[in-house]
Amino acid sequence: MDKTVAVIGGGPAGLMAAEVLSAGGVTVDLYDSMPSLGRKFLMAGKGGLNITHSEPLAQFLSRYGKRREQIEPLLRTFGPDELRQWVHGLGIETFVGTSGRVFPVGMKASPLLRAWLKRLSDARVTFHLRHKWKGFLTSIPAAGDGGLSVLKFATPEGEKSIQPDATILALGGGSWSRLGSDGAWVPWLEQAGVRVEALKPSNCGFDVDWSPHFRERFNGQPVKSVVLSFGSFREQGEFIITQEGLEGSLIYAVSALLRDEIDAKGKATMTLDLAPDRSQEWLSEKLSKPRGARTMASHLEKTVGIKDVKAGLLREFVAKEDFTNMERLAFFMKALPVPLIAARPLEEAISSAGGVTFEALDEHLMIRSMPGVFCAGEMLDWEAPTGGYLITACMSSGYTAGTGVLNWLRLNREGR
Ligand SMILES: Cc1cc2nc3c(=O)[nH]c(=O)nc-3n(C[C@H](O)[C@H](O)[C@H](O)COP(=O)(O)OP(=O)(O)OC[C@H]3O[C@@H](n4cnc5c(N)ncnc54)[C@H](O)[C@@H]3O)c2cc1C
Repeated sequence: MDKTVAVIGGGPAGLMAAEVLSAGGVTVDLYDSMPSLGRKFLMAGKGGLNITHSEPLAQFLSRYGKRREQIEPLLRTFGPDELRQWVHGLGIETFVGTSGRVFPVGMKASPLLRAWLKRLSDARVTFHLRHKWKGFLTSIPAAGDGGLSVLKFATPEGEKSIQPDATILALGGGSWSRLGSDGAWVPWLEQAGVRVEALKPSNCGFDVDWSPHFRERFNGQPVKSVVLSFGSFREQGEFIITQEGLEGSLIYAVSALLRDEIDAKGKATMTLDLAPDRSQEWLSEKLSKPRGARTMASHLEKTVGIKDVKAGLLREFVAKEDFTNMERLAFFMKALPVPLIAARPLEEAISSAGGVTFEALDEHLMIRSMPGVFCAGEMLDWEAPTGGYLITACMSSGYTAGTGVLNWLRLNREGR
């Protein structure tokens, strides 16, 4: 097909869209503001690239919460199994970790990205680096103009305008802006009449008003194997104490609920079970043994094994009078209220909630009011916990947008 498609954004969503498009026989120009591609993808690989998850699809789909209905058709076309096959097709094996998470062998993103970029460049995808998209030259392409919107770019050689036959925007969310996705696109799309939900932190940490002593003593320490409850959420796991509050996998898993509660009520209180393997009665009985000359800290450690950061947490949130009442203390060990005052800023979050609403898009992810302009990846209004769900949905939406463009170009050609 003698058509040129612009893909803007060289993260997993844009690269997958470019792959589908080039396989469909169109000329693909991929633009990115950064000097190299896939920087957030590489960062995701730092702690082990969790590319997807091996759990049954029904459970997998439930991770997308309110947006399950919109994400499901995307994942039914290109889901976790297809993603694993695709990684294998790049010559990289995958394995399932103990938690069911799927990783490429070697855990790193760089060999995968290298092989992927080579495949794309062999397929004649042209990469235009240091090209920052700055919006549309004309705000809204008039309906029926064939979707030929003029895109503005700032480049090292100055401003450039291009007019592709179709465009895929895969600009990412708003976290870790130094890696390229800075959310600068939000007002440009809003000005063009596209509904965008404000970007918010997702998979983020929270601020806690620690006492100076606790902060100094426990900053950076892991709190292992506790059960965190908040509303309908109840999960065992671990997190880390930070200077400002707390972060880590268990916190990220409940972060959307906590963030929404803070947005609505100004604060949120989660509950920790510091001794998940013990009953309250057991704790109470052990704690009630005579303390003798032992300090309270040593009594807690000797009788019920609560020490260090867990003992510190009790000191932070249990009133003095309850500390001398062993029944009350046992109760708080099983249900310690921890008040959170704010979500950490979007910049620090693993991912973003909010973005282009699905109501603004058709089922191929084309902006209804802008024929020929499609969106994919984290810039869409969905969120999911960590566990490989983010990259999977980004790539899946890139796949859908890519096939959507090919169909749209075909239909358009036939219509002329
Ligand atoms: C520390 C960290 C660890 C993570 N770990 C995991 C993990 O293990 N598993 C997982 O599933 N997810 C993980 N994620 C999330 C995952 O990396 C992202 O969800 C995913 O990269 C988003 O893909 P995307 O293609 O939508 O956007 P991005 O990867 O953000 O790519 C967007 C691209 O668009 C470019 N761009 C933005 N604006 C413009 C513009 N105006 N002009 C031109 N180019 C522009 C950017 O430079 C960037 O290259 C992690 C994220 C972080 C920060």
